[in-house]
This record gives sequence, C-alpha cells and structure tokens, in this order.
Amino acid sequence: MRASRFLLFSIGEHELWHYHTLSVVLRTLTWSLNALFEGVHPTLDVHGKSLPPHLQKVAGTLITSTALCFCVTEIRGDWSWHKKLWRFWKTSWVGKKMCHWCRAESTGCWEGLYWNLTESSSWVDKEFTLEEFMEERLPPYGICI
Ligand SMILES: [Zn+2]
Repeated sequence: MRASRFLLFSIGEHELWHYHTLSVVLRTLTWSLNALFEGVHPTLDVHGKSLPPHLQKVAGTLITSTALCFCVTEIRGDWSWHKKLWRFWKTSWVGKKMCHWCRAESTGCWEGLYWNLTESSSWVDKEFTLEEFMEERLPPYGICI
C-alpha cells in the first residue's frame, strides 16, 4: 500500500503566488504523468515546444522496458489542501454556499438550508455530478495557463 503513493511536489504555503504556482506545477505534473500513463517519452515539452537535446534523444521511445502503466487515481489531502487546489468558487464554511459538494446553504429558503434533513430538503442525497461540480464550484478563470 505504501508503495502505491508518491509525493510528487512539496512547497511551503508562504512560497505560493496566489493560484499561479500550483497551476504551473500541476500542468507540468499532468504532462509528466500522462507520459507515464502512455508509457512513451514525450516528443514535445509541456508547452508543446521542442524538447531540450537530452530529452530529444529519448523522445518517442518506451519509458520502461516492462509493461508498467501508471495512472493517477486520486489526489489526497485535507480540506484546506482541496480548497487551495480546486479553488472552490464562492464557497466558504462561513458563507451562504457552505458546501463544496452540494447546494446546501447556511441562509435562505427552508428547502436549501443545510440543517433541513427532511424530505423537503433540496440538497440531501443530491451531490453534484461531475459536470455540475465543474460548472458551479470551479472558478470561471485561471483553470488553464
Ligand atoms: Zn453538501
């Protein structure tokens, strides 16, 4: 189990420049991990440009001689990390939209209140679909570089 989890990146929170630092790191990690998934050394760099000479030598060749295949299956972390990573849009534990996974609210009509656990609730057992999550909880800017 321990051999299935790898630390890929570490940085002090005080070293982050807003969300930009994580965007750059995640783009590079995605490029690299996609190559591991495909099992082939990339032919272009992370920005779609020519590789430096030492990487051009292996471009297009198999990464390993065995049939290993790597795949990202989970991004683990506590709520503080997930809030920083996903930049949940206009949600806060102390705000009106206080849940990142559904439409429960801290104020407003009875149907939407997070303490309404009755059948009249508009959010119980109605977590977002992937598409709803992306549309309602991810920020409308700064996703791609
Ligand atoms: Zn919720």
